[in-house]
Amino acid sequence: EREKNIMTGVLSLKSKKIRDIMTHLIDVFMLEADQIVDDDLILSVHGYGYSRVPVYEKQRENIIGLVNFRDFALLDTESGKFTVRNVMTFYNRRYAKIVMADDSCYDVFNNLKKEHHHMGVVVEPDPTSEKDPKPRAIGIVTLEDIIEEMIQEEIVDE
Ligand code: ADP
Repeated sequence: EREKNIMTGVLSLKSKKIRDIMTHLIDVFMLEADQIVDDDLILSVHGYGYSRVPVYEKQRENIIGLVNFRDFALLDTESGKFTVRNVMTFYNRRYAKIVMADDSCYDVFNNLKKEHHHMGVVVEPDPTSEKDPKPRAIGIVTLEDIIEEMIQEEIVDE
């Protein structure tokens, strides 16, 4: 029975869209690029417990990169002069992998794996702005989200 479920899950990846399995933007824990990295910020990052935290500029839809919770480990917060942006660029994590909301889980899984990304920022082109065709984020997706679809089970994280 379990094997049958897994087979069904794997086969369904081609027809399932990323938008159907993503974590919606409203539920994503993120940081703003110009936030000062102080002890409270680091505490909240650890409190949420996510390995990766998207970084946005001004609006949450405008994700410009991501940080890893480990990036804050050796940081001296005393001086109060480091921003999230500084940390992000120091660790060279500026570019988050962009994935299209209507792409299939199958294609996105292969692309993320091929390019050694764990997380993708899900976007759809903004139909309202002609001048600024910059895509806006509507959510995130990680390899774990897709693997869960594949095996049709929740993965319980430690
Ligand atoms: P982690 O390695 O941080 O445990 P995973 O990649 O295993 O994260 O993903 C576990 C779940 O948490 C997935 O559903 C993923 O979409 C979600 N997730 C990952 N990072 C974040 C975040 N910063 N904010 C909200 N949800 C997240």
